[in-house]
Amino acid sequence: MIANTKDRAGAHFAPEADRRSGLVCLLTGALLLLAGCSKSGVDQALDSDANGYVCLACKARFYTDRKIFPTRCPDCKKPDIEEALGFVCQADQCVMIGPRGQRSAKCEKCGNFTTALSIPREADLKSWGAVKKTEAEVNGQ
Ligand SMILES: [Zn+2]
Ligand SMILES: [Zn+2]
Repeated sequence: MIANTKDRAGAHFAPEADRRSGLVCLLTGALLLLAGCSKSGVDQALDSDANGYVCLACKARFYTDRKIFPTRCPDCKKPDIEEALGFVCQADQCVMIGPRGQRSAKCEKCGNFTTALSIPREADLKSWGAVKKTEAEVNGQ
């Protein structure tokens, strides 16, 4: 009789425990997924094929090959240029491109301020309106 009661209790509680551990599994999976997601985001952010810049004097947007580091604006020839970075909205992954000096940007989609940064790629810079420049155009006295 005693053994029977135990068995029944065990049978009664087992599905509950299974469900709970199943939930934990799901949660862990979701966390791993999130971690994996942001990790690849960082990898991508650190790897770019172009250098983007914005001129603080005339607002010209331009970019160069990865190995060229401009010292002046190709349009107004002033040295007031700043590297262009991607400002990423964590909520919807919307990316706004702007000068490095600004701390964050207002998301065009949801209106929140961005909290993450990325390095824009050539395609991002192009759609931002940047024009590719040669070393001769962006370097010199
Ligand atoms: Zn300029
Ligand atoms: Zn947003």
